[in-house]
Amino acid sequence: MAANGKAESPMYDYACDAVAEAPQKGVLNPPPRLLCGPGPGNAHPRVLSAMSLPEIGHLDPAFLSMMEDIKEMLRYVWQTNNAFTVPVSGTGSAAMEACVANLVEKGDKMLVGCNGYFGPRLIDMGDRYGAECIEMKKPWGEVFSYDEIKAALEEHKPKILGMVHAETSTGACQPLEGIGELCHEHDCLLIADCVTSISGVPCHLDKWGVDAAYAGTQKCLSCPPGVSPLTFSQRAMDKLMARPDKVKNWYLDMKMVASYLVGSGGGARSYHHTAPISMCYGIREALSICCEEGLEARWKRHREVAEFFWVELEKIGLECHVSKDYRLPSLTTVKVPEGVDSKKLTKLLLEKYQMEIGNGLGDLAGKVWRIGLMGYNSRFDVAMTVVAALKDGLEQQGKLKMKV
Ligand SMILES: *Cc1c(COP(=O)(O)O)cnc(C)c1O
Repeated sequence: MAANGKAESPMYDYACDAVAEAPQKGVLNPPPRLLCGPGPGNAHPRVLSAMSLPEIGHLDPAFLSMMEDIKEMLRYVWQTNNAFTVPVSGTGSAAMEACVANLVEKGDKMLVGCNGYFGPRLIDMGDRYGAECIEMKKPWGEVFSYDEIKAALEEHKPKILGMVHAETSTGACQPLEGIGELCHEHDCLLIADCVTSISGVPCHLDKWGVDAAYAGTQKCLSCPPGVSPLTFSQRAMDKLMARPDKVKNWYLDMKMVASYLVGSGGGARSYHHTAPISMCYGIREALSICCEEGLEARWKRHREVAEFFWVELEKIGLECHVSKDYRLPSLTTVKVPEGVDSKKLTKLLLEKYQMEIGNGLGDLAGKVWRIGLMGYNSRFDVAMTVVAALKDGLEQQGKLKMKV
């Protein structure tokens, strides 16, 4: 201020009347939820600690070596040797869109298995990038047989087949064995949605001939959402590199991202966008935990906890929506019994027990609950806690029918 009480320059008028009062919100204090819905699940405490470590630059050699660790561990978790295996900035849908944006060229036929919520999302994306999309349909909760897929490939001759390995909206696990080979016989690429299967359900990308797969971190990897695993086979890379046009999405252009995260031909890595450093710490730690446990042990744990959960559900009179032959261990859809208000129960669980489970989505709205026992939460104590809460929820509505 000048001596006359007037600001010397509007630039330095700190006491300007035009500045609104600052909102005072205090310290953040989120409720301590047990997250047993379709995702996010609770992050592993080690992942949360890793995410609070001090920042480094995204071109720092220490960051680049951490990126190499992430890529190596991702290849293990997915059982693939694909050179292009990276964490994409953004959640699972970003890696999903990366598959579509990079591999779909205008006019390509894209066939998608639609037996839940996420197949139609692939179709919506394909549509936006100029694909001629074809839905292969099945009721929500069922899966496609090898012969059904074969017949559809022969009929439509698509350039791309999209399949959801683990349908989080229905709790069904789509068998992919032999599907890649079938696609390659028809000069077609196979894209697999592995968001809810990665590290929780057996996943053999190379053995199954999957050309592009995407995943998320907030499901079985027990890392907060923010980066998403993506991998392309050599076939997928060849299609991408042979494109005559530019990829129609700047942020997710994997040709450009590759030269940032992978380094072009061993050359210097060039800046594309700033990688989310703390998220990379998180996924690095989450993958390290998977590697310590071992994939087979981790898959087995998810299966055993799920089997236990299914038996305990039966004891309180609840049934699963999906046939046991292809039921996902990471996400169970539980039928809402006749006369039960499904949303009233999920509300009770949240308010009384700090527990989140999911309501049904789309065709299954009001018909099922979606319960995730993923990664860190794939434990007997968590399963039993969910059953106890469900039991109380049913009792409160006068609908508990114990099986003896
Ligand atoms: C959660 C999920 C997605 C989307 O991931 P976001 O992280 O929500 O963007 C895609 N596919 C499946 C099968 C999912 O479960």
